[in-house]
Parts: sequence; C-alpha cells; structure tokens
Amino acid sequence: MTRWNPTDRWVLSRQRSHAQLGSEADFVAIQRMRSGRPNQDGESREYLFAGLLRCDTCSRRMDSHWVHGRPGYRCRHGHTGPRTEHAPATLYLREDHLITRIGHALHMPVVASPSLVAAQLRARHIMIVCTADGVSVELPRPILRAA
Ligand SMILES: [Zn+2]
Repeated sequence: MTRWNPTDRWVLSRQRSHAQLGSEADFVAIQRMRSGRPNQDGESREYLFAGLLRCDTCSRRMDSHWVHGRPGYRCRHGHTGPRTEHAPATLYLREDHLITRIGHALHMPVVASPSLVAAQLRARHIMIVCTADGVSVELPRPILRAA
C-alpha cells in the first residue's frame, strides 16, 4: 500500500496540469499541421487563426473551413448530422473579415501583418471569441499563466 505525503500529492497535481497543457499545445499543433497540408489539387490551404477562435454561442473552438477559394471558420455548435430546425444556425466567418474585426478588438486600425498578430495571440494563449457580428478578446485562464 502506498502512502502519499503532501509533497507527493503536489507533484501529482503538477503532472496533471502539465498533461493538460500538453494536450492544448498538441491540439494547436495538429490544427496548424492540418491547415498547412496541401489538398489533392496540390493547393496549400493556410488558416492563420486555426485553434485561436472560440464560438461565443457554444464555447467550442471553431473549425477551419475553406469556402469559395478562401480561408474561413465555422462552428456547428456540436451538431454533426443533418441540421434540424431546432439547431442554432451554423456560424460562418471569413478570415479576411476576421482580420479586420480582430484588429479593432486589439485597437489596431490597420493590421499590417495578420500572421504576426496570430503568432502573438498563440504565444500569449489569447483566444478570440466570435459571434456573427464581431469578436472579443479572451485572456488566458490562470492555469495557463501558472505554467
Ligand atoms: Zn458554436
């Protein structure tokens, strides 16, 4: 039988929080890998804000979604099958529109380098919460800052 002293417990809880951080980082890495992978036509689809956008309606991360030759994002709010009449409308956002909105939210009248903004958001664990009409900035939760 193992007896835990308080130090053991402290180590255990630290390991658990590292595991959570790892999965968060993995998720973002996978999203970026997927987003940079060429499709069958050899076209490389790049999504600047993959993993950085959260849906305000349901709090899920938004999916990267290519539409009409342009990068965009969508949230189906967890619905995977055919749409039912009671399901909330899918949120679709074009990346070029998002760049302008994120710029406003960050008090940048002109976004000269959207990829630099995306890298800064990623590095600081800042999420962008999206509605059909606008965005807001979500600062990192304390668990991320503690690491
Ligand atoms: Zn949603």
